[in-house]
This record gives sequence, structure tokens and C-alpha cells, in this order.
Amino acid sequence: MSASSSAVSNVGKVRASNQDSGFAGQYLNVVADGMGGHAGGDVASHLVIRQLLTLDKKFDSVDEARDELVHTLLLANDMLSDVVFEHPELAGLGTTASVMLRVGNQVVIAHIGDSRVYLLREGNLSQVTVDHTFVQRLIDSGRITEEEAHSHPRRSVLMRVLGDVDATPEIDTMVLDSNEGDVWMLCSDGLTTVVWSDELSEMMTGFEPGVDVDVIANALVDASLEGGAPDNVTVIVSRTVAGEPEQLAELVGSAAGPMPVKQPEPRLIPPTGKRPKPRSLPVSTGGVTMGSANLTAQLDAVRAQRIRRRIGLIIAAVVVAGALVIAGITGYRWSQTQFYLGADEDSVVIYQGLAQPVGPFSLSHAYLDTNVLLSSLTPFQRDQIKATVPAGSLAEAQSLVNALTSAAK
Ligand code: CA
Repeated sequence: MSASSSAVSNVGKVRASNQDSGFAGQYLNVVADGMGGHAGGDVASHLVIRQLLTLDKKFDSVDEARDELVHTLLLANDMLSDVVFEHPELAGLGTTASVMLRVGNQVVIAHIGDSRVYLLREGNLSQVTVDHTFVQRLIDSGRITEEEAHSHPRRSVLMRVLGDVDATPEIDTMVLDSNEGDVWMLCSDGLTTVVWSDELSEMMTGFEPGVDVDVIANALVDASLEGGAPDNVTVIVSRTVAGEPEQLAELVGSAAGPMPVKQPEPRLIPPTGKRPKPRSLPVSTGGVTMGSANLTAQLDAVRAQRIRRRIGLIIAAVVVAGALVIAGITGYRWSQTQFYLGADEDSVVIYQGLAQPVGPFSLSHAYLDTNVLLSSLTPFQRDQIKATVPAGSLAEAQSLVNALTSAAK
């Protein structure tokens, strides 16, 4: 199973800047809603999403995916404390994170804060995550209704976030099945405080089955804008489809721009070590040696040896052909773990694969348009990017982009 996803983020009609960030990739979808003055919210959601980008890859098991997801969110949480240490004016920054990672026909969801994950399945919309808010506690204990929560004076108080306060914030996780045709929707509270659950349900179930995910995401953001959009609004819509992922990854909101402050040293997950060298096959070339027996015996011996050699050559050819096929598959798989920076018409793009084609076969495709404009770079940097810069992993590519954007300032 794979996904067809769309990400849309809008600053809204009241706020001066967009502190939300969103990501829609091949396997990973994230909404992060940043909070805190002095650009703190922009920094928090930007940093958390950029840190999570390294997880947009194929996992073998949901357990492995869940462990790495929680680990990365906690690392990002530590990094937010590091940012505040270097920039004390950002104290109190924080961000929600609602993350969905696809593993085969399942999804791993990790969630903290009041951004939400919804699932539209067979004409029914259900809210998958539970808000970590003060009013949600009141609703759970039966003290107020969902309607009353919308006008409660403490409706925006969050009980849990990623930020510089809690060293090990509690992150909810769950693993759910995802069937072909399921539509997952992740959003910031800029949508749900304007478009309430009944209206949201009506909208989501009203779309024609199979309608483009861009149409759904834009319609939801438009509905928030029509309702006055007092807050930033971010929506990710991701439909489960059959086949292998081909999605061009998309960053929106604060994370789509350069990091608002100098980023602390990236905490990268250590690379998985050097690849073993491919083993070369021992190939023996047997020669014909004459014995000292009579001519007939010699000829028989030569004939027998010829036959053995022919059989040997056929076996060797089969083994070599098999090895070439395996090497080709392994090589292609390996190439798809590689990333490099290049340019499209006007901006820096992260490509997945190898820049060099093999014969007529291209081994790369655009992975993410970083939105870093070529015009913001020095002529030297521009030439380097146009000539492509190998980056190894996605994390390295991301650090290179960060280095470019901080140098460009
Ligand atoms: Ca918000």
C-alpha cells in the first residue's frame, strides 16, 4: 500500500506569521502547530518537522517505526531546549505534533497536543486522536459538553506539548490498519476551532469517492478562511492507494522556509555503518593436461575434460548472470537510499537516488522542493547546486540545506 497526499497551510486572517508546519511525504505525514512569541512557534514547528523528515522511509515493522518515531520526537524535544539555551528570548516555545507513518497496510500514529488525526472510512469520519487540552479533560470527566468547550475561557490551554519544559513528554502512539480508499486527515486547531465536528463530518463525507486529495485539503482550508480563520490553519489529506509510493514530498508552513534562528547542531541518528563490499566470485579456469597413456585413452581423457569444462562454463555463466541480477537489484535499492542536492528552474531541490544515470536509466527523482531560491545563493553556491552536490542520507541533505540557508542570511 502507498499514499496519495496533499499538504496545505495558510496563515489565516488574523495572525501575522504562520507558526504551523506540515509535511506530506511518501510514508510520513505530519502537522505541527507551533506556539510562543518572538518567532518561538515558527522555530518549534520548523525544527520538529525537519527532524522528523528522516523517517520518510520504508520500515520493516510497525514496532521499529514506532520506536524510531518516539525516539525522534524526544530528540526534537531535547533540541528545543538547546535552542532556548542559545536563544533565551525564545523561552516557553512549544509545538504540537500529530504524525502518521505508513508501514505496509498499517499506520503508526504518534500524537502530542491538540492537532488531530481523522479517518474517513466507508463514508464515516472518526477522530482518531484525543486532544491533550484542559477542556478535553473537562469533557472526559463529563463536566462540560463539546459545544461548551468551543467557548470555554481556557479552551486554548494545552496539557502536553513538545518544548523546553518537559524533558520526557508523554507521547500517545497507536497502530491501526489502513485499507485501500481510506482517507486520513491531519490538521491543526486552526481548522477544528472554526469548522466544528458536525460540519467537518458533513464536508468530508460529502466529497465524491476518489476525488483528488488536493481538492479536499483546499476545501477544508477554504472553509476555515470563510469562517474568519483567527489562527493559522494546516491540513494534510492522505489517501491509501495500492502500489508503490511515488509521491513528491511537500513541506508547508514555517518548515517550508529557512530556519528562523540558527539551528543547534543537528542530532542525527547515527548511520547504520559501512556497507559490506560485494564479494567477487572465485572463477577457476581449468586447463587440459595430457597424460602419458596411449592415444585412445588420451583422447578420451581430453573429451571428458572438454565436457566437464563446458558444464563448468555453463554453471559459471548461470551463477554470474544470477549474481549480476542480484547486484543490479541491490544496487538500485542502495541508490534509492542516497540523496543529492540539485536545482530546478528557480530553487534548490533534494533528489532521491544517484545523480548519474546508468545508460538510459535515470536512478533519481525529485524528492522535495526546499523552496530555497537559487537567487538567494552566492554565484559559487548556485553553480555548485546546479552541478549537484551528493549528500548521502536525507538527514545529510537536510543539514546541507540548513547550512545553505543560514549562510544565505
Ligand atoms: Ca493553532
